[in-house]
Amino acid sequence: AFKNINHLGALVDDILDIEKLGTDQMTFDFQPADLTALVRESVASNQSYADEYGVHFQMDGTQDIQVKCDSRRMSQVVANLLSNAAKFSHRGGTVKISAHRQDGMARLSVSDQGVGIPEEFHENIFERFTQSDSSDSRKVGGSGLGLNISKNIVEKHGGTIGFDSTPGVGTTFHVDFPVLQRVLLTRSNSDWSGAQYLIGK
Ligand code: ADP
Repeated sequence: AFKNINHLGALVDDILDIEKLGTDQMTFDFQPADLTALVRESVASNQSYADEYGVHFQMDGTQDIQVKCDSRRMSQVVANLLSNAAKFSHRGGTVKISAHRQDGMARLSVSDQGVGIPEEFHENIFERFTQSDSSDSRKVGGSGLGLNISKNIVEKHGGTIGFDSTPGVGTTFHVDFPVLQRVLLTRSNSDWSGAQYLIGK
């Protein structure tokens, strides 16, 4: 009963988010944040998925990567990717999570050794209510809304979300978005007025 209540609660949250996105009413509180710290916290707070599906979450990366984001919404994206990675993994598998800089962007990756995503499903994966019709997906349940919501949230951050997947081998989802550069501003040559973050490569 407890599990069903949680699933129902998650479904209601997803439907409310879809409604907010559809009417452009989802609000964002963008603040400078360290992406590595944010991902590390999300991994810790989503450990229950790893326990439920018998997988091991392994976090790589220690870089300080400043980004401008809504921490609550970005944590929601990480939670969606972690829950999918756990759900579609085999028991005993490892899910690797990393935050690093790549080509001037901040990249967050979630990589599993699970069932993979069938080729014919790649094109539609970010559409609403889309689920691969394999028995694995039916077995674990879900709304088919999470990736659509995640894509919308990532795009509101000026980023992109994509994946590489090989059926039977595993899947890696990656999210890329702009890094914040810390620059010093001057009022005159001798008077440093402080530091400010700017988006840039
Ligand atoms: P949900 O997980 O609630 O069904 P999502 O939108 O998060 O909804 O995912 C949609 C579908 O994409 C899943 O049902 C599954 O078929 C596929 N999928 C997502 N992530 C993975 C993954 N890491 N490995 C295999 N299939 C995945």
